[in-house]
Amino acid sequence: MVWGLLMSGVMAPVSAHAQEAPADVTSVSAAATYVVDPSGGRIDASLRLTVSNLDGPGGRSVDAVSILLPAAAGGVVTAARSGLPMEVVAGPIAGDFQLFALGLGRPLGPGGSAELDVRFAMVQGSPNREVSATRINEAYVTFPARGLGDPAQGSVRVVLPNWFEARWVGAGAVDVEPVSSVEGLARVFETVGVGGDFVAIVEARHDDSLHRRSVVLEDDHPGFEVASWPGDSDWSDSVEAEVVRLIPRLSELIGEPWPLTETMVIRETNAGLVHGYGGAFARTATGGGEIELGPTYSDRVLAHELAHAWFDDRIDPWLAEGLAEEFARQATEVTELVPLVGTDDARAIPLDSWVPLSGELDVDRFAYAAAGQLMYVIAADLGPEGLRDVIAQLLGSTSPYAPGLSASSDLADWQRFLDSAEHAGASAVEAPLIDWVLSDPATDLLDRRRAARDALDDFTARADDWGVPLAVSLAMANWDFDRADEALAAAGGLLDERDRLDRLAAALGVGSPTDARDTFAADPVESATLLLAQADGLSAVETAQVAADDERSWLESVGLWGHDVDARVVSVVAAYEEGDHASAVARLGGLTSLLDDAERTGQRRLAGGVSIAALLGLAVAAVRLRRTAIGRTRGAPDGR
Ligand SMILES: [Zn+2]
Repeated sequence: MVWGLLMSGVMAPVSAHAQEAPADVTSVSAAATYVVDPSGGRIDASLRLTVSNLDGPGGRSVDAVSILLPAAAGGVVTAARSGLPMEVVAGPIAGDFQLFALGLGRPLGPGGSAELDVRFAMVQGSPNREVSATRINEAYVTFPARGLGDPAQGSVRVVLPNWFEARWVGAGAVDVEPVSSVEGLARVFETVGVGGDFVAIVEARHDDSLHRRSVVLEDDHPGFEVASWPGDSDWSDSVEAEVVRLIPRLSELIGEPWPLTETMVIRETNAGLVHGYGGAFARTATGGGEIELGPTYSDRVLAHELAHAWFDDRIDPWLAEGLAEEFARQATEVTELVPLVGTDDARAIPLDSWVPLSGELDVDRFAYAAAGQLMYVIAADLGPEGLRDVIAQLLGSTSPYAPGLSASSDLADWQRFLDSAEHAGASAVEAPLIDWVLSDPATDLLDRRRAARDALDDFTARADDWGVPLAVSLAMANWDFDRADEALAAAGGLLDERDRLDRLAAALGVGSPTDARDTFAADPVESATLLLAQADGLSAVETAQVAADDERSWLESVGLWGHDVDARVVSVVAAYEEGDHASAVARLGGLTSLLDDAERTGQRRLAGGVSIAALLGLAVAAVRLRRTAIGRTRGAPDGR
């Protein structure tokens, strides 16, 4: 007996039966038609096969053919050859498919061909929780529409009620856009030139038939709508309970309120088949969102999709997926990471080049696991509070260097993430980013960053309560390390001047004004202007003190009679300490001209006839004045 293999395919394993068979001598072309009956919960499939025996004269005969059909066909397969019923023997089930053997009745000799009609029905996996590719109800239809036979030798035709919105989702070899037409109440999709290597997932929706239920959380929450397939209230009950449980928990872990302003719809779909995963999230243009969730979802998948509401469209995919994975893990208290992957994985790609759900299932499997693992490790390093800090920075596009200000929009998210995670206390972020995330390890840039951060640390310690100028913070926040270097050098020059003036002020035994310090962080240029003025003021103090200490002649003392030179020095110092350097300089001017004029004034006074007794009193006052001045300068800290 010779067996011909009709189908092999993307979604079906090659059966052992076929592998043991001798070389195939048949050629098969097949026209497959799938008529969807949503209200009946079934798809009626008919296959018109043309089987040819290609062996030459004297060759082998073919007695039967084997065919892989969807397991949802459930064994009710009929076949006929030229109108005569054929024997159908059900074989093993492999995944979503089952092998059937069709006896040809009379052998098909070399060079011969036969027309076969095969009919079967696909029914929905029942109950809904069953893992199956096929779902058929009045709101939703998915099934794999396969081609059959030799490559490019057949056609696939799908007929649906025209009130369904339908699409073909690529899987395997599908790049074929079907021709769509309307025939009465039916919408028809058809593609030709396909064979057993063809499979399209048909997904059809009629949302008006969904059963919708509103879920209200708090008063100001836009709420949820749970939209299930007709009759699947178990699913709605379970989703509602999970949403009520998970949203407050996620919100607390993430540290931000629920981000959507419009309703989030959670819609039952066969997401696992359509996307390859248990769920999918999409934000709507109006501020709402939609989650597609499978009938057999897990709470962790639902938590992951809910977490996307905070992150999607706001940060890079690898980071959004990693955070969604980690927060879902925390919210559902999963303690084990499965599967663990390594950077040496054959499927490994740098996560920054990953486009989730782009059809590369192997890459997706690696990348989801890798992003989740990476975030698990960093979250453990950060602790809950640190992780919330990082999220706030990421979502606010701000930087820990310049709180409250937006960082450059050119910055990649890994850069913001690295800054905020390190600032929040994570000890090892850079190395895992290089190992897992970056296509370009950015070694030079990271070296420059490290050097700039060291320089900033030194500066910050030196600046003390003067703080860090905004220009430095912004340059660091924007990873503009050239500018950071320049700004640090300029600010360092001001600190040099600050230190010089502090030393001088200490030597003169005076305090210093705080205005240059107070403006330094916000406006270093203003601070520089104030330091220049301060230098003038301090110079006035020094000059006043020196002038007051000068030895004075008897005549000068007579001229200064009635003037309190000491009080004038004190007033210069007071103006300086208040930051009124112009007044300090002006008061010094007054003092200087008083001292300069003292001798002349003395002569005038003597010419005017001053009593001896008054002069003696003046001499005593002059000696006292000098002693006071000497005592003051000796008291200066550096002993000058
Ligand atoms: Zn995701």
